[in-house]
Amino acid sequence: MNQNWRAIIIRRVILIVLVSSLVGMVTGYYAWSLLAGLSIYLFWNLRQLLRLHEWLKTQQGDEAPPVGYGLWGEVFDSIYHLQRRDQRVRGRLQAVIDRVQESTTALKDAVVMLDSDGNLDWWNIAAETLLGLKTPQDSGQPITNLVRDPRFKEYFDGENYAEPLDLPSPVNDRRRLQFHITQYGNREHLMLVRDVTRLHQLEQMRKDFVANVSHELRTPLTVISGYLETLLDNVDAINPRWLRALQQMQQQGGRMQNLLNDLLLLAKLEATDYPSDNAPVTIDLMLLSIKNDAQALSAERHHRITLEADPHLKLKGSEAELRSAFSNLVFNAVKYTPDEGEIHIRWWGDERGAHMEVKDTGLGIEAKHLPRLTERFYRVDSSRASNTGGTGLGLAIVKHVLLRHRGTLDISSTQGKGSTFTCHFPSAQMVRRNQ
Ligand code: ADP
Repeated sequence: MNQNWRAIIIRRVILIVLVSSLVGMVTGYYAWSLLAGLSIYLFWNLRQLLRLHEWLKTQQGDEAPPVGYGLWGEVFDSIYHLQRRDQRVRGRLQAVIDRVQESTTALKDAVVMLDSDGNLDWWNIAAETLLGLKTPQDSGQPITNLVRDPRFKEYFDGENYAEPLDLPSPVNDRRRLQFHITQYGNREHLMLVRDVTRLHQLEQMRKDFVANVSHELRTPLTVISGYLETLLDNVDAINPRWLRALQQMQQQGGRMQNLLNDLLLLAKLEATDYPSDNAPVTIDLMLLSIKNDAQALSAERHHRITLEADPHLKLKGSEAELRSAFSNLVFNAVKYTPDEGEIHIRWWGDERGAHMEVKDTGLGIEAKHLPRLTERFYRVDSSRASNTGGTGLGLAIVKHVLLRHRGTLDISSTQGKGSTFTCHFPSAQMVRRNQ
């Protein structure tokens, strides 16, 4: 009921005053009767207030309010309705929380909620089996104390969670876990952990298979190539009809050997995370020798190859791997730049780190190919690539070597104008020679 309580109260007070005045006029005690009338009204209001207080104090659960009169009755009812509504909302929320908790309990993946400092807030049962978290002792503990792998600490503190992190389980190092972290709200973290042991084993089987096949094929291929070479060394003794066939067999045999070497190198690069030899490498001298090799590769094609390298800047890493990556980029520039084109090699350092760049005035690459260029066997134009004797694995090797040296590859290219391949290395990997 929507009544105008203000008007009703004013009317009620006026009525009390009028009745009290009337009684006062009749009895002659005008002031006393007015005081008595208003006191009765005040007393009545205080009593209602007291009843409300008693009800609120003793109320448990769903108890209905006492019967009230007038405005007080409406106040009792309104409070009662508010309480009921609040209880219903709380019930619904609790049901949602229960459902979420039940479903996360049934999950095989671990779900862990962390506060903004990385301390444990809440986790499901799978987190106890996968990560060995203990309820309730571990509540409030920093996650980096419980997952103690240094790679996890680096990943967690780095706050770059675009890619998941794969690690052995802290409970059982035969199991492999994948960590996904998402930040939400006030820099809190939601961490999902999946058991990827099976996937990891399959991936390992694939790598082993490729490595074994490449290794096993090497010996027969060496024998065949050896015989072909011997045959071709005695050109006069063989039927001229066979000469071209033998030459082609030798050429394709060479290609197969390159392919196997590249596959084996990739398998080796994939086997470990970081290069074991991490001594500073003199890149300027390495680039000079690569430049000379490139000039020899170019031969009569007369490319103009220039080198500009900072002699004081060294890079921590594996010399063999870096040589393989850089020579792949430089030789690609020779392969995919028309005769007499220009190739510029640069090695320099700045506040963002160290950089090695190969810029050519070659054929260029259409923008749509750029994101897929470092995939194995990906070629822009397979007929063009097979003419150059490429394996399609060169840039995949470059990507892997850079990954192992914490570097990234940047490719920019304009079709018909040329391409620029730049390797960026973080400052932590560079060493100044005069230091
Ligand atoms: P390949 O052995 O075929 O050269 P890569 O992985 O080294 O394989 O390169 C992949 C593809 O990228 C090549 O087939 C070629 O089409 C393209 N490519 C690489 N480097 C260059 C370059 N400097 N200029 C133009 N295209 C290039």
